[in-house]
This record gives sequence, C-alpha cells and structure tokens, in this order.
Amino acid sequence: MTQRQLEQLLQNACGKPVADCSVPQLYNGLLSLTQSMADERRKTEDSGKKKLYYISAEFLLGKLLSNNLINLGIYGDIKSILEQNGKSLTEVEEYEPEPSLGNGGLGRLAACFLDSMATLGLNGDGVGLNYHMGLFQQKFLNNSQREEPNPWISSPSWLKKTDVTYQIPYRNFTLTSRMYDIQVTGYENRTNTLHLFDLETVDEGLIGDGISFDKTDIQKNLTLFLYPDDSDRAGRMLRIYQQYFMVSSAARLILDEAAAKGSDFTDLPDYAVIQINDTHPSMIIPELIRLLTAEHGMEMDQAIDVVSRCCAYTNHTILAEALETWPVADLKEAVPQLIPIIEVLDDRVRRRFSDPSVYIIDGEERVHMAHMDIHCGFSVNGVASLHTEILKKTELHNFYAIYPEKFNNKTNGITFRRWLLHCNPELASWISGLIGDGWKKDAMELQKLNDPKFLEDDGILNSLLAVKNEKKRQLSRWMKQNGNPDISPDSIFDIQVKRLHEYKRQQLNVLYLIDRYLDIREGQTPETPITAIFGAKAAPAYTIAKDIIHLILCLQQIVNGDPKAAPWLKVAMAENYNVTLAEKLIPACDISEQISLASKEASGTGNMKFMLNGAVTLGTEDGANVEIHELVGDENIYIFGDSSQTVIDRYRSGSYRPREYYETNPRIRRAVDFITGPEMMAAGCPESLNRLSGELLNKDWFMTFPDFDSYCAARDQAFRDYEDRRSWARKMLVNISQAGYFSSDRTIAQYNEEIWKL
Ligand SMILES: *Cc1c(COP(=O)(O)O)cnc(C)c1O
Repeated sequence: MTQRQLEQLLQNACGKPVADCSVPQLYNGLLSLTQSMADERRKTEDSGKKKLYYISAEFLLGKLLSNNLINLGIYGDIKSILEQNGKSLTEVEEYEPEPSLGNGGLGRLAACFLDSMATLGLNGDGVGLNYHMGLFQQKFLNNSQREEPNPWISSPSWLKKTDVTYQIPYRNFTLTSRMYDIQVTGYENRTNTLHLFDLETVDEGLIGDGISFDKTDIQKNLTLFLYPDDSDRAGRMLRIYQQYFMVSSAARLILDEAAAKGSDFTDLPDYAVIQINDTHPSMIIPELIRLLTAEHGMEMDQAIDVVSRCCAYTNHTILAEALETWPVADLKEAVPQLIPIIEVLDDRVRRRFSDPSVYIIDGEERVHMAHMDIHCGFSVNGVASLHTEILKKTELHNFYAIYPEKFNNKTNGITFRRWLLHCNPELASWISGLIGDGWKKDAMELQKLNDPKFLEDDGILNSLLAVKNEKKRQLSRWMKQNGNPDISPDSIFDIQVKRLHEYKRQQLNVLYLIDRYLDIREGQTPETPITAIFGAKAAPAYTIAKDIIHLILCLQQIVNGDPKAAPWLKVAMAENYNVTLAEKLIPACDISEQISLASKEASGTGNMKFMLNGAVTLGTEDGANVEIHELVGDENIYIFGDSSQTVIDRYRSGSYRPREYYETNPRIRRAVDFITGPEMMAAGCPESLNRLSGELLNKDWFMTFPDFDSYCAARDQAFRDYEDRRSWARKMLVNISQAGYFSSDRTIAQYNEEIWKL
C-alpha cells in the first residue's frame, strides 16, 4: 500500500481530512483503521485444530496504538502522514489511556507472551477479566501513597463487545458474563485475541472514598478492581467470586470452540491446551471436570484424565504468602458445586501417596491451588533456571520426586517490539545501522554487536553514549513537564522501578542513599552527580510497603531540599509506575537496580528490559540475573550479596538476628538511626517511620543488613567505573548484544516445542 492510499484510508476512518482533525479525532480514526487492518490478518482458516488458552488474572498491556502500528508495519508511514498534515503522532500516543488490567511482572509477562504468540504465528488466545477500574492509580499526598480508581475504558476503545454470554452459577445467585475482545497483532504476522469477561451489572457508583467499596455486593462489584483488598474475609470471598467467574467463562468458551471444530470432548487435548498463569486460574481444573461430568455425561475418571492432559501450570513465586490456599468453607459458600470434585481429586492423591505435604486439602481444611495444578496438569514450569532448580530441590521437592517428568524451565522474556522498537527507536536504528535489520525477526542476531570491530571503535562507542544521552535528556524534560523532581541528564541515572515489596528490597537501596547522603554532607562528593530514581506501587493493604514509599518520599524531600547535597545527589520517585512510564524510564537508565534477596525473585523481566536498552545491572545472584551474569560475564555486571543457598540455609536455621548487624556495623546503625532521626520525623509520619525502623531491627525478614556492605561496595564500584566512558560504553554494548536470549519469542517457541505442541 502506498502512503497516499494509507492517508486516504485514515481520512475515511476519521471522516475528514487529516489536517482538519483534532487529537481525539485522529485517535479514533487510527483506532478504527488499525482494528480493521488487524482483522484482515486473522487466520482462522489455517489455524489447525489445537489452540492455546493463556488464562491469567492480569494482562498488563500498556498502550496499544503504537505497538499495533509497528506490528502492522505502518508506524513510519502514519507518523509521516501526520507530520505532513501538521499533526504529531506523539500527541495522539499521549492521548491514549493505558489499559489498567495488570499489576506487575506477571501481568506484563502475559502481555509480552500474547505479542510473541501472534508474532510466531501460533494459534493462542488470552483469557482474563475486564476490570473497569483496573488496579488503582497512585497519587502522592503528604509523602504517602494514596489510591484512586483508574477508569481506563474510553469510548471508543480497543474493547469490542461480542455476543458471547455465559451463565455463571454461584451458591445463591447466577451471574451473566459477557465476552469482550481485544485484538492482539503479531509483528508482521497474524492477529490473535485477548478475551476479557465482564459483568454487565457492575456499578461504578459503588465506589466511595479512594478505592473503597462494598465488597459484599458481588453483583455490582465483581469486575470493578483487580486484586481487591483481601485483608478481610469479604475481600477474600470477592477474589473467589472473581476467579470462578474468569475460569467458568473460560471453560465454557474452550468447550464451545472445541465442539465447533468437531471435538466430542474425549479428544479435548487435541483441541485445547490451557496454560494456567500462577494459581489465580486454578479453579479451571475442577470446573472443566464438573462441566464434562455434569453437563456432558462423561465419567469422572475419564473427565479427570482428559482435563489433566489439557492443563499446564506456571509457578511464579516461592513466597509462601503468595501461594494461594482457599478454605474449603469459603469455597463452599461461593461455589459449592466444586467441592465434591476437589474432594475426589484430593481423595485420589491420598490413596496414592502417604505424604501429607502433597495433599490438595490440608489438615486445616484449606485447598492448595498449586498442589491441584501439579497433580492434575501435565506440566509445571518455573520462570528462570535458578527458580526452577529451587522448585525442584526445595519448595516443590516432594512433588518433583513424584513427577520428575512434569517439571521444566521456561526462562521469561520480553517483546522487543515494545521494549526496544517502540520505546527506544533511536537505539533500534543505531543497532540496525551496524548489523542490519535481521535482529528484529531473530533477536539472537544482536550477538553480531559483540565484535571487536564495534567494541574497539571509539566513534561507535561515542555514538552509543550519545543515544543514551538523548534518552536521558528526553526523560528529564518529561519528568519536569509532569510535576516530578527536576533531574539533570548529566548525572548518573540509577533506577529501581518495580512493585514495592520487601523481597525486592527498595529499603536496601534507600539505606545506601542515606549513607551516601550523610557522606556528602561531610564533604565526600561523588565524581559525577547521582540521580536515584524510583517507581513503585504498594498493595493498598501492605503496610510496610507503604511505609517504604513514605521513607523514599521523605528522603526525596530532605535530600533535594538540601543545597549542600542536591548538586550531587537527587532522589526522584515518579508517581504511578506503569508501562507508559517504564517506556520512558528504561531507555534512559545507566544502572539497573535488581537487588532482590537471592532465591526470592523468580525471574524478573525488568532486568531484561534494562539490559536490552544498554543499562548495566547491579544485582544479586537471583532470578534471571543469574542468566544475565552468565551471558555478559563478570566484567559487564555488578553482582553482590549472599547466594540463594546461604539465604535458604539462613531461613532454615532461623539464625538471623538483624539487631546484631545494627549493633556491630556503624554504617548500618547510622543509616537506620537516620530513619527515626529529627529530619525524617519533621518530614514524615513518626508512626510510619518508627514502625519501619522497628521492622528492620527486629525482623528484617528479607535480610537487608547482611548484604549492606557488599551492596555499597558494588554500587560505589559501578559509580567509579562510570567515569571511564569508553569502558562503560563497552559494557553497555556487551549487554545489548547478549540480550537476544531474553526475547519472549524465544520463550514462547520453547513453550510451544516442549509444552503446547501446537
Ligand atoms: C516489566 C514491568 C514490571 C516487572 O518488573 P520487575 O523488575 O521484573 O519486577 C512491573 N511493572 C511494569 C510496569 C513493567 O513494565
């Protein structure tokens, strides 16, 4: 298609000449143009009979317009058509609301996987829920997080209402679910679908102050929010209602589609493979068994066998508090029809195995969702090699002993369309200038950059630094325009952005910054000024996480307001960390903070995005950092801290006493004392700061203090090495060149070869 023809199509979609359109009109026109072009790429005819259903409570999609334009191959043309008419694609991009259907890494992974499945031409759809208010929007008020609803569904939107509805039965009532679809475009390939189920009686008027609402009014609240506060029973019940709504709708969709293609359900595994993304969708197992037996007349034994050959489970965490268990009594109250099925499944386990640690229903009458997934699925995968090894050796060892053949690893990945082509076109074209365009289809071609002819060429290294510089300038401008702290692009951008959780250890980063700040006050200034950037949302009921946000914001106020320190050190916490913000921050990063407590971060994907964009990792030997370390070598990464084995042993022996570190390590003592010192108390809330300090001194469950000295040493070393610009640029280039392994196209190809077999 020529640019003229494309402009004509856009003009038709807008209903008037491009030059006469407002930004909303252009957005609406581009939306409908993109949707019709994406529809032309549906390949139902040659899809084959087997389909993958990726079921997930979250899909953290990010904005869709630019990615769809890139994947449809018309981004450059649209940009120049708009420019020729005096319009800016950037303004249209800014206007698009970001879908708020996810929380963190797990949801972003699901979104990257949808992109890669379509890009590889695989017949695979996503299934989830359509939360009207998403997770929540984060606002900072009095140095604290405040949560507000995040209404993201505009009109028109990417969501397309379908005619598909299902009746979802609960104990006391029946709800109607309706399916909405979002197209998933592949990069120069087919279009797949994300199916989002919704409840039409949802009432946004139920929301009161902040994100509070009546959690018992299920017919009005079911799809209001992702992860409603579950610190009380009403919240936990709501999550059960949500999960069942999702999986019961999904199960009916799967059976309908298989039947339409000729399945009599005894051969369902030839038509459907179901990837259970973490345990939120686990109830699909008993629900499918129930539908096959109660509505389709299948014998129980056969139904269990059929479903077990369809389902595969991905584990995302070893944190005990994140492994879901539901009280039988709660399930009985919401979905009593599942209880007899779950009891049959548990009974079979008890007859085969005498070890209570593998039972589905435990001695306290709680259902272990992961246990059900492992017994009643054909595959269990971890998400990075260290994580899978820990599952096999420790966390799920008793299951591994029973089913060694089910366990496999699929190291996570990211889509390079969003995380390079879209967010860093400057770097993408710099790369293509050196090695051509082949890497866009085969990410392993990035290895061609790892060549002395580039690594030893000053001109090339300087031009790489210039690209980074430009991205830092863009970020500084954006931060300023959007009410964030003023940051100098000539400083070192040291960034930690991810959900706020104690295991990710933002508190370790803050302790370093306090230590560094106090040194600067005593005259020890760094060579190059340092900017420490944070972005993180805390779960609304996670008190200590919110205390840590409070600490960061108070420190930001103190450091940035201190004329002696501010020229050398800045703290900048950006509000409402989401995909759109990540796309601005990551390309501008020099040092990527990946400092989780070893063994606790299953994989991480932020680490991969940073590496791909030429940041150097400062991290523990945890999650996919281990694989990054192997790929780039000791010279091109900063690794510190205790090993996962040491950490696991320390938990086992219960020998850790944080107060001993506080009492014997003067630097730790100085930093911790600062948290409850007069300046902090003046900036913040004493209750919150005292609670946090007490938590560190008496518990420190995620072992911040033992890694403090080695963290400071590694971070200082990275800052020193940054001064040698030539050698730093080489580190950047090696990181980019080795990032190809972390393309989600590789991950999805492995899922397909080893699990799905589409
Ligand atoms: C990639 C991403 C994450 C995951 O980051 P981790 O560092 O792997 O925890 C979370 N949130 C957003 C918005 C992301 O883009």
